[in-house]
Order: sequence, then structure tokens, then C-alpha cells
Amino acid sequence: MNPFQYVRAGKTKAAIEAIGREPGAQFIAGGTNLLDLMKRGVMAPPRLVDINSLPLARIERQSGGLRIGALALNSAVAEDALVRERLPLLAQALSAGASPQLRNMATVGGNMLQRTRCPYFYDLAMPCNKREPGSGCGALEGYNRMHAIFGASDQCIAVHPSDMSVALAALDAAVLVTGPRGERRLAFADLHRLPGDTPQRDTNLEPGELIVAVDVPDNAFTRHAHYLKVRERASYAFALVSVAAALELEGSTIKAARLAMGGVAHKPWRLPEAEQALVGQPATEASFRRAAEVAMRGAKAFKHNAYKLKLGPNALVQALKNAAGLA
Ligand code: SF4
Repeated sequence: MNPFQYVRAGKTKAAIEAIGREPGAQFIAGGTNLLDLMKRGVMAPPRLVDINSLPLARIERQSGGLRIGALALNSAVAEDALVRERLPLLAQALSAGASPQLRNMATVGGNMLQRTRCPYFYDLAMPCNKREPGSGCGALEGYNRMHAIFGASDQCIAVHPSDMSVALAALDAAVLVTGPRGERRLAFADLHRLPGDTPQRDTNLEPGELIVAVDVPDNAFTRHAHYLKVRERASYAFALVSVAAALELEGSTIKAARLAMGGVAHKPWRLPEAEQALVGQPATEASFRRAAEVAMRGAKAFKHNAYKLKLGPNALVQALKNAAGLA
């Protein structure tokens, strides 16, 4: 492991200043991903700024929604009474992520910022444009079973691994950020990026910016929401495909719908056209199947992940059936 400085910040301003003084420095909270990356030599930050003492772990009711502090633990959010009552989709997605031990360490902010689990990214002997820009992509012609079917580029075909982020994308959350230039607010859909020709950048955060909270607006999807995660081991595995599905029903007619997928793109993949295709339709398997067809338009498989072209629509239909109570 490379030597690095360790700084414990007691105030947000001090944390921002400590990051700004050392190019390449990283914030650390739960460390459930960053420490693995450092041990394997994938990342070698010269300084870690420990933000665990910052007062950013509250979950509170605000006018129009819930504000969840970036340092709230995944397990605490999943079990919080307000979250379970008002945002069951988020509680389900958090409970589907990682293992109980990891959920007890991982924070909401860290969950959003975790890096891809593409095996070539973690293997220093292999080319990877995300780890080392310009070196190539080992997955493009390699074993790409876990990789993207939407939004990939010829530079990177990795997927974003967070379950929580898929639910937050579906729920139209917003992220509060503070940094050297002050505070700003990003729509959750604008936090993560597609790889394009800069796959080394996972998000639109500027250097030195810190996520302090996520705001999730009130919604009418509390009664009909389901997070479905298809994975290889129920105990602990990243999604092959996941679906966050939420419906607002008037009788058996769909008044509004939210859909996002995980395990299919470099960012949580929202499906606005499929959502629109559901509005005004009866909540039936036939409607869900038609929306799934719309959702999969533009999907493109690589050598080993063509199974996602079938698994994706089937998972969408099943998640919608579960949300509607048809399953
Ligand atoms: Fe690296 Fe992305 Fe290619 Fe994986 S898919 S090897 S993360 S460039």
C-alpha cells in the first residue's frame, strides 16, 4: 500500500479545505469501497480526509419531502420509520444492497459514489480506461457478462453498482453538495455520468465537492412500489439487472409510473418513455409487457451479456406486477 496522510475533519468547511490542499485527496466515511480499492492499488490517494465526525447523519422531515444526511448509514435509512412509511422503494433497495455488515458501515453518500465492480477495473494487469485513461478497455473484447446494455461507449461498458441509487433516480431525488465554490443542488439524474470518452469520471461532482444530503420529494407511490434485484447469490451479490418500479393507481388504471433499472448502464437508468407508455393503461401484465418493450429500445448487448436483453424486460414486468399487487 502507498503511504498517505490521514486527517480527521470536525467541520464541513475544514473538510473542504483539507481536500483542497492536496490534489488527489479523498473523503472517507465508511470506507467499504475505497479501502478495497486502496489495498488493491487501484486508487492511491495521497491524503484521506475522515468526515465521520461531521453532523450529516440525520434523517428529517422537510416541507415537501425527506432529507437524508450523507453520513446516514445504509442500515439506519433502510430501517427508519419515516423512510419505510414514505419511501418504501428506497428502503427495499437499501435492504437489497450488499450484506448486513456492509450496510452497517456504508453511508448514503458513499453508496452513491461507489465505483464500478468491473473486474478489469480491479485487475492492475489489465487495460482499463477508467483506472488509467487511454490504456484501453479489457471488458470490450473480454468477459463482459456483467456489463452495460444501455449508454456504453467504445471507451467503457461498465455498470454502476448501487441499488440505492436506482431507487433515488426513480424517486426524482436531488443531491445537496458543498465545495470550494459554495453549495449547489443537483438533480439525482445529473449526478452520475455516462462514460463517453471520459470514463474515469463517474459523476458530475467538481474536485473538492462533498455530498452533504439527499432530498427525496413526497410522492404518491408509497402503496405500489417494488425493488426487484436479480443476482447470482441472494446473500451478497451485485445486480445482474435490477428494477425500481412505482405506480400510482386510480382503481386499476395507472395514473403515474416511475421506472429505473440497475446493472444495465454506467448510471441508474431511468425509463421515461416506458413510464409514459404506462400512463392511462390498465395495471395488467399486458400493459407491463408493452412498457417493457418500450424500455428495451436501444439496448445493445456485448458478447457475454445478451441474456440481459431477455432478463431486463422480464424483470421489468415482474417488478411492475409486484408493485401493482398482481404477483
Ligand atoms: Fe475499465 Fe470500463 Fe472497460 Fe471495465 S468497462 S475495463 S471499467 S474501461
